[in-house]
Amino acid sequence: MTRKLFVTTALPYANAAFHIGHMMEYIQADIWVRFQRMQAEGDGLREVHFVGADDTHGTPIMIAAEKEGITPQEFVAKIAAGRPQYLDGFHIAFDNWYSTDSPENVELSQGIYRKLRDAGLIQTKTVDRFFDPVKGMFLADRNIKGECPKCHAKDQYGDNCEVCGAAYQPTDLVNPYSVFTNATPILKPSEQYFFKLSDPRCFEFLRDWLNTPGRLQPEMVNKVSEWLGEAGEKLADWDISRDAPYFGIPIPDAPNKYFYVWLDAPVGYLASLKNYCGKKGLDYDALLADPGTEQIHFIGKDIVSFHLLFWPAMLQFAKHPTIDRMKVAVHGHLTVNNEKMSKSRGTGISPLRYLNLGMNPEWLRYYLAYKLNSRVEDLDFTGDDFVARVNSDLIGKFVNIASRCAGFIAKKFDGKLAPSLSASSQEWIRKALLAEDGSERQASIGANFESREFGKALREIMEIADVANRFVDENKPWILAKDETKVAELHDVCTAALILFRQLTILLSPVLPGVAANVRTFLNDAAYTWADTSVASGAAWEPMLGRTIGAYSHLMTRVDAKMIEDLFDAPAQQAAAAPAPAAVAAEAAPALEAPAAGDIEELAPEISIDDFSKIDLRIARIVNCEHVEGAGKLLRLTLDVGEGRYRNVFSGIKSMYKPEDLVGKLTVMVANLAPRKMKFGVSEGMVLAASAKDEKANPGIYVLNPWPGAEPGMRVR
Ligand SMILES: [Zn+2]
Repeated sequence: MTRKLFVTTALPYANAAFHIGHMMEYIQADIWVRFQRMQAEGDGLREVHFVGADDTHGTPIMIAAEKEGITPQEFVAKIAAGRPQYLDGFHIAFDNWYSTDSPENVELSQGIYRKLRDAGLIQTKTVDRFFDPVKGMFLADRNIKGECPKCHAKDQYGDNCEVCGAAYQPTDLVNPYSVFTNATPILKPSEQYFFKLSDPRCFEFLRDWLNTPGRLQPEMVNKVSEWLGEAGEKLADWDISRDAPYFGIPIPDAPNKYFYVWLDAPVGYLASLKNYCGKKGLDYDALLADPGTEQIHFIGKDIVSFHLLFWPAMLQFAKHPTIDRMKVAVHGHLTVNNEKMSKSRGTGISPLRYLNLGMNPEWLRYYLAYKLNSRVEDLDFTGDDFVARVNSDLIGKFVNIASRCAGFIAKKFDGKLAPSLSASSQEWIRKALLAEDGSERQASIGANFESREFGKALREIMEIADVANRFVDENKPWILAKDETKVAELHDVCTAALILFRQLTILLSPVLPGVAANVRTFLNDAAYTWADTSVASGAAWEPMLGRTIGAYSHLMTRVDAKMIEDLFDAPAQQAAAAPAPAAVAAEAAPALEAPAAGDIEELAPEISIDDFSKIDLRIARIVNCEHVEGAGKLLRLTLDVGEGRYRNVFSGIKSMYKPEDLVGKLTVMVANLAPRKMKFGVSEGMVLAASAKDEKANPGIYVLNPWPGAEPGMRVR
């Protein structure tokens, strides 16, 4: 039976360009898909359908379009137009990229809903929904923030927590506020449609589905089992409706009600597949009904509740044919220099900047693949590590083999490889491609690609590269080339080395598709399949013997560490503060005379970094400032520290600043200072200001002001 793989990545929300975290997920899925496409099984190649789409519905896009004075459709079309430069740029080969705002998605979402309704799993209830009294509209989940009811992380959205991954209703949030006006939302009654996840049928199904071996990673089974509870008592009905105005899909037979975006977003996977089938003349229904079809979703750990509770339950009771053959592959988050990605700060790496700097997309593919495994673990991008890994493995071990041997074949043998190999060279090739127990390394490398243990696969491939380099080092073609009597030996060694280089290329081609395409041209090869790496079948070297190959041209350059500097948005002062390698520092630091000592206050006793980190300093925006009646020195500041509420702080800076000079400015405050009751009210923190030791010589008090780019709520470290 041919395995038919229907593979997706999470649908990105169409209100912004891709960030580096998206690219990591696409690269992970693309490597897996490319590996699958190289497999021959039974009568033919594995059939793979790899689709994606923009997630377009919901309030944030509606509001963003309104701000730009365009329709939501125009807004998402603009975002969609920007996608190919990223996908093509990083060799992500989706078969189809589509949109959830499509006729297929309307038909499929409404169809699933009708089936759920027929199964008795849709219920209406009049519930209190959050309403922004200032803006005069019902608030979507993403328009409400507050404290996560489970882990108590602050500033989480109304539908799920990005810190602990919990899903909940906006009304569960602690201290909710409207993101538009910061107003505390009020509750207003509204009739809503619910998917009855609390129905015992859902629990029974999910328990068995989750626990099917091979479907989910063990840590995910444990996590979701916790959410189910012993007997499903923790499963709550899911509100799938939103009130007009809403950019979404109308709920059948329910005027002015739309599907909540999270209902139709995953249906977008099916819509993209159906659209693709239409373009290719494939039968969508027959494809899904085929017992050889597997449905595989690659997602991040922040959206597991949607994909492991609601989505399978919806598919099951809508009688979706591949529900028993569905798997979900969850990955961790990408951190950059060990910093968590943040929406406001980004990560410091823009995928587009990476490409615009002329950095090779396959460096990033290799580096991320090297760090990826099958577990739900975060992985870190570190500049130095990236440079070292790419230069050592891809240049030092891989490309180097071809660059040291290809020239001799061109110059001395008219581009023709040797017609046969010496026993010694054959022995080296076996040593490289076979494990100690005689099994083929391609089998264990393939098993690691299949199970998403990419790091393990690449480490094993690099072990083959190490043997290949030892072969070249010991046989020294550059010495053989100087001796006219050693021509046959030179031919043999260079041919064997290029055979090993070709083997490495084939094994690396899921990760390095661009390099593989160039090597195919260089070696006059057809498309590579995994079977081309078999020693037992002879495929590993026989096709190369006696073949005329093309001219070798440079396949890949080294990473220049300077590029990494340009890649991170490091402001000048930050770069200067970073510890530089000693040699560089010695060279760069100009000889400066010590500055003259000023009359400064004596330094406080030394503290540890732990002492310092107890002080939580934050960027604050001064949203209002006024005189305090009866206080000679004080100004009353109203500060926004990004918490969704305002702070009242008194500061003794009246002698220096007029209130109107401070309004709108950013400053730094001690945000975790215990509130202090003063004569004029409670002060909730302290604003930082500088003053001289000798107040008579300089009576000024100077409020700190951050450099451009800082935003309220950022921590000062
Ligand atoms: Zn949480």
